[in-house]
Amino acid sequence: MSALLNILSFDIEEIFHGEFTRSLPNLKRNFRSEENIFTILNILQEYKSKATFFIVGQSITDNGILSELVKKGHEIAFHTQDHIPLREKTYSSFRDELGSFRRRIRESTGSDCIGFRAPSFSLDRSTYWAVECLRREGYVYDSSVFPIRGPLYGLPSAPMTSYEISEKDPGSIGNSGIIEFPLTVTQVFGLRIPVAGGFYLRAIPLPILIPLLDRALKTNGTLIIYSHNWELDPKIENISLPLKAELYCYFNIKNTIEKLRFLLERYRFVRFVDALQRSGQRTLSNDVS
Ligand SMILES: [Zn+2]
Repeated sequence: MSALLNILSFDIEEIFHGEFTRSLPNLKRNFRSEENIFTILNILQEYKSKATFFIVGQSITDNGILSELVKKGHEIAFHTQDHIPLREKTYSSFRDELGSFRRRIRESTGSDCIGFRAPSFSLDRSTYWAVECLRREGYVYDSSVFPIRGPLYGLPSAPMTSYEISEKDPGSIGNSGIIEFPLTVTQVFGLRIPVAGGFYLRAIPLPILIPLLDRALKTNGTLIIYSHNWELDPKIENISLPLKAELYCYFNIKNTIEKLRFLLERYRFVRFVDALQRSGQRTLSNDVS
């Protein structure tokens, strides 16, 4: 087991929230997060591991579940109210939802909410204004930058380790006061390979994934890993989807739980707020651990 501190996070949303599924007509929209989030909580409890949960507000409407997360020592962060990418939001609507979600968490759990992840990693040069919104609403960190050139997202020249993000260009270092935690990529022969989570974590077989993660850990000093609750849902619905969406949503999905267990055995994980604390940044106002 590595002694280094890595960060584990879960994006709590529905399978129909994704970029390949959200616009599909006639798609059955069953909210499953309030049930399947407990699969994750039980696995984390088994391994005595803590994580950060980026919540889509409309997926968890029961504040009791949020309180339970906090009581178990996990961190709550925000993944927007509806999982609509930042490019489809406005400065003022985004500020409103940041503020009301943070108030909801403070009032219902007694803990703070200081972290954000953009849906589909949609923080880029066209949505730079979101960084100012985060700062003005009292958020402290962001984990939305994927430092790769991807088909749907990515800032290929962004730093690969945490940095203070620029208010005008999220892929650059600046002095916004917001700390960016980019998702982990591994550099092989000059190419940045995403290994951090979601589809990539599912698609790459373990014998290849582990050396890539170990290499990233050596280079970056930490791993920032994410998964989705629907990828870990034992009762995931088998929805008929167009080929691209089918591949993105279901490829190797049955192995995700096994992979998560393997990662929890091999690496030690903490929450974002723990990493901030170590670097001397502000943390949760009423932290439970
Ligand atoms: Zn998401």
